[in-house]
Amino acid sequence: MEFVSSWHYVGGVLVDEFRTVDGLTSWISIHQDRLGLAPGAAICVHSPELAQVIRVREAIRDLLDAIVDSAQPRPAALRLISEESRQAHMASLIWPPSGPQLHWPSGISTAELLIAQVCASAVRLLSSPRCKILRRCPAPRCVLFFTALRPGQTWCSQACGNRARVARHAAPGKVLRAGRSGAPHPGVAGRRLADADPHLPPVDGVGLLRKTVPGDAD
Ligand SMILES: [Zn+2]
Repeated sequence: MEFVSSWHYVGGVLVDEFRTVDGLTSWISIHQDRLGLAPGAAICVHSPELAQVIRVREAIRDLLDAIVDSAQPRPAALRLISEESRQAHMASLIWPPSGPQLHWPSGISTAELLIAQVCASAVRLLSSPRCKILRRCPAPRCVLFFTALRPGQTWCSQACGNRARVARHAAPGKVLRAGRSGAPHPGVAGRRLADADPHLPPVDGVGLLRKTVPGDAD
């Protein structure tokens, strides 16, 4: 689920790794093993597909927001992810001498494969017990979700915990948590990824899911 973490802060600046076709292509190349792409498979993405990938990322984020906020997701988001996840059935397991791997129909595009895989992954997460430990990192300048594998884990990373404590001491009483309700920065919570300016100034934000990293308990 590093997919949704492709929108994140780097050095206090929001960065969208899918801002360009080249960016998406690079991301797919880095994660091709986890996507079930055969070694050496051609990775080709076109602009219209980039827009659809971003819509899917936005929809998954909407579902994750709904989980952590105990709210209902947008029906359109739920429908999109559910429908796209069904495309994963097109893959079959084959077993060449090099070992088992997924085999996709020859006509499927890289973007279709990516969307099918990430939507199927999102469905598995949201329908599993793991969704009960899904959290949104409340640290300033963090837009990530994480799975709290340790009791009391509050932040997605130790760096976020440290930053939040510094901010809390600098501004006593300041509310750091942002979400669907009570967001300290109107317009940030629920903002569409496609509309987000990757160079917005640092803000508290709603998050994305990334691979869980060791965090620190508050
Ligand atoms: Zn964080």
